[in-house]
Amino acid sequence: MSDSLARVEAEVRSCTKCRLYKSAQCGVPGEGPARARIMVVGQAPGAEEDKSGRPFVGRSGKFLVTTLQKLGLSRKDVFMTSVVKHFPPKNRVPRADEISACFPYLERQLLLVAPRTVVLLGNVALRALHHHPLLKNKNVILTVHPSAAMRFPAMRKKFEADMMRLKRVISGMS
Ligand code: URA
Repeated sequence: MSDSLARVEAEVRSCTKCRLYKSAQCGVPGEGPARARIMVVGQAPGAEEDKSGRPFVGRSGKFLVTTLQKLGLSRKDVFMTSVVKHFPPKNRVPRADEISACFPYLERQLLLVAPRTVVLLGNVALRALHHHPLLKNKNVILTVHPSAAMRFPAMRKKFEADMMRLKRVISGMS
């Protein structure tokens, strides 16, 4: 049977491949158009995402969405997901074995959505995907995680500059 986003979603929602499902309330596969031109990849769901099962609905998610709106993009234009699909306890950084257990879901999402542009939010996404063969021939925007951008002025500057680059890239200017 051919793969599909619905299949990935169902598998994430019932995933027990690492310890994180035990403490989380639900899996957060990600969401967005099946053929989005842009995919945004974060670190892992936060507490709000864990409650709702939806990506980027908490404080940093709202900050990200507001920033995208300033570029003329809405949630409906972007496929949003994270490297790890279950909320790590106390919002800790996902561990290497959790990242490798979850990584095939992200690889499948990248293949299925086939976005032209991928935005990597923060170090976990950067380490997991930078130089990955699936990103060959794509525009890759590396930036800080929106939660860091919200907290630290220097990070916010970088985030805003990187988002301006995203805007140029999607308007075909760079
Ligand atoms: N941060 C992420 O990296 N992913 C989410 O879904 C929410 C916040």
